[in-house]
Amino acid sequence: MTFQESQALFDRAATLTPGGVNSPVRAFKAVGGTPRFMVSGSGAYLRDADGNEYVDLVSSWGPMILGHAHPDVVQAVQEAAASGLSFGTPTKGELDLAEEIINRVGPVERVRLVNSGTEATMSAVRLARGFTGRSKIIKFAGCYHGHVDALLAQAGSGVATLGLPTSPGVTGASAADTLVLPYNDLDAVKRAFADNDGEIACVITEAAAGNMGAVPPRDGFNAGLRELCDQHGALLIMDEVMTGFRVSQAGWYGLEQIAGDLYTFGKVMSGGLPAAAFGGRADVMEHLAPSGPVYQAGTLSGNPVAVAAGLATLRAADAEVYRALDRNSQQLGALLTNALTAAGVPHTVQYAGNLLSVFFTDQPVHDYAGAQASETFRFAPFFHALLEGGVYAPPSAFEAWFVNAAMDDETFERIEAALPAAAEAAARAQA
Ligand code: PLP
Repeated sequence: MTFQESQALFDRAATLTPGGVNSPVRAFKAVGGTPRFMVSGSGAYLRDADGNEYVDLVSSWGPMILGHAHPDVVQAVQEAAASGLSFGTPTKGELDLAEEIINRVGPVERVRLVNSGTEATMSAVRLARGFTGRSKIIKFAGCYHGHVDALLAQAGSGVATLGLPTSPGVTGASAADTLVLPYNDLDAVKRAFADNDGEIACVITEAAAGNMGAVPPRDGFNAGLRELCDQHGALLIMDEVMTGFRVSQAGWYGLEQIAGDLYTFGKVMSGGLPAAAFGGRADVMEHLAPSGPVYQAGTLSGNPVAVAAGLATLRAADAEVYRALDRNSQQLGALLTNALTAAGVPHTVQYAGNLLSVFFTDQPVHDYAGAQASETFRFAPFFHALLEGGVYAPPSAFEAWFVNAAMDDETFERIEAALPAAAEAAARAQA
C-alpha cells in the first residue's frame, strides 16, 4: 500500500495547522506513521487520497451508523441546502428533530440544539450549576466530555491517547470545582458527597464509558449514581454523545432505563454534520434563556442542513439497523478474539452495547487505571498491520471501535483476511 499523497498532504498540513490536524487523535501520534487523508466514503468503506480503500471501523468516531453517504441522508442534506444554508430564525426541522429525540428517550422532555458535544456538556454543566446554585461537579477519570475546561481533568479520548494529565490553560479555579473519581466506584462517589455536603451541583458520567475504550458501567453503578444524586439534591447528567441513538434506539437509556436529569447528545443525531443537543427534565431545562436566567446561545444552533442530516439518520435508523449494529459488533469482536487467540496474545474484547474495544490484558477493564495497565505497546503494530490490510481501526488504544449497519459479508471477509498479520504483529510487539 502506498500513501505518498497522504504524506504530501500531511507535510503541507503541518505548515498550516498545529500537528497537521483539526482534532488531535487524527494525527496518529500514539501509533506513529502517516494519517490517511480521506477523500470519500461509501457504505462501510473509506477511500484515501492515494486511492486505497479501507473498511471503516471508526465511523467518524460514531455518527455514521448507517454507513457513509447513505442515500436518504444525502438527499435530505441536498434538499435542505438547496433551500438555504442558515437563517438565524426558528425552523420546523428543529422541532421535528427535538420531537424525534424526546420520543426516543423517555426522561427527555425538552431539548436545546447546539453545535458540538462539547457545547452540549458545557451548557448542561452550566445549567446544573445555575439550577442548583452550587459550584462543584463530579466526573470520572477516563470519561471524556469534550474539551470543556472543567471537564478536561483526567479525561479519556485524545487526552488519554496523548497521556496528558490535564491541559495547560485550564485555570486552578475551574479545575478545583471538578472532583475526579474512579469510574465504577460508588463508594468514592458516596465519600465525595459526604465530604462536600450541599456543594455538588451535578455528577456527569458517560452513560457507558467509551473514551477509555469500551468500559460498561458495573451492574448498579448508574442506579447508584441516580440514588446518590437524589439523596444529595444534585443533578445526574448522562452524557450520551457517544452512546445516544447508537447502542439502541434510545441509546444507553434504552438498555438500562436509569433516568438522568439532563442528557447530552451528539454524533448520530446529526448524521455526520455539526450538531448536538442537550435536554432533560422540563423544570430544569426551563431555567435556560429565554425562559429562565441561565444563558446559552448559538449563531448556527439548529442549522437546517445539520438538522436535516440528523433527522434523516434517525428516521432511517429503525429496529433492523440496531439489530445489524449489534450483530456486526459481535461478529467483529469474535473475529478479533479468534485472531488474537490464535496468535497467543492476551486480550479482552470488551463491549458497551455495540461499542467495543480490544484491551491487551486478560483482565476485564472497569476503570481508567485498568485501561492504562493493559499492554498498550501492542496496539500500534496491531493498528498498522490492520491499516496495511485495508482496515481502518481507531488510531488509539483508548478509543472504542464503531461498527455501522452497512457492513456485509464482504466487509467481514476483508477484516478476517487482515487480522492474522495484525495479531502476529501484536504478538511480536516489545514493551
Ligand atoms: N461526550 C462524549 C461522551 C464524547 O465521546 C465526545 C466526543 O467524542 C464529546 C462529549 C464531545 O463531543 P464533540 O467532539 O462533538 O465536541
